[in-house]
This record gives sequence, structure tokens and C-alpha cells, in this order.
Amino acid sequence: MPIIYDDEKSYRFHKSDSADKCFACNENSDRLLVVRQIKSMMLVHLCHSCIANNFSDYLLDNTRPWLGEKGNL
Ligand SMILES: [Zn+2]
Repeated sequence: MPIIYDDEKSYRFHKSDSADKCFACNENSDRLLVVRQIKSMMLVHLCHSCIANNFSDYLLDNTRPWLGEKGNL
């Protein structure tokens, strides 16, 4: 049973984001992290190298207990 958060609107994924590939380079990786794109303030999945190469464009956003399938909110 999914947990419903009362701050759901703060944790929307970018409309172009996919849970199984990197938002920036489209690589399919099993090591994607959820970060917040500063420009849109939406959540996206990024691979490690894109996080390292674009660190000023994204915020680490681990302030929420992520559960289950990524992106299936
Ligand atoms: Zn990438």
C-alpha cells in the first residue's frame, strides 16, 4: 500500500524523466540517483557521471524516505 505524503507537490518528477534511464544522458543504468533539477525544481534520475559533471545544476534531495519503485508516484 503506497504511503500518501501531504507534501506530494514538492516531489513531482520532471515530465521528461524516466525511472530507468538518466535524465541528462539517457543511459540506462542500475545506479541512478534521484536529484532535484534546479532550473525546474522537479525531481529527475541521474547517473553518477552526470551528477559529477553537472553538479551546479542539481541538488541532492534525500530528505524524504523513498520507498519502492522509483518514479511510480
Ligand atoms: Zn547520465
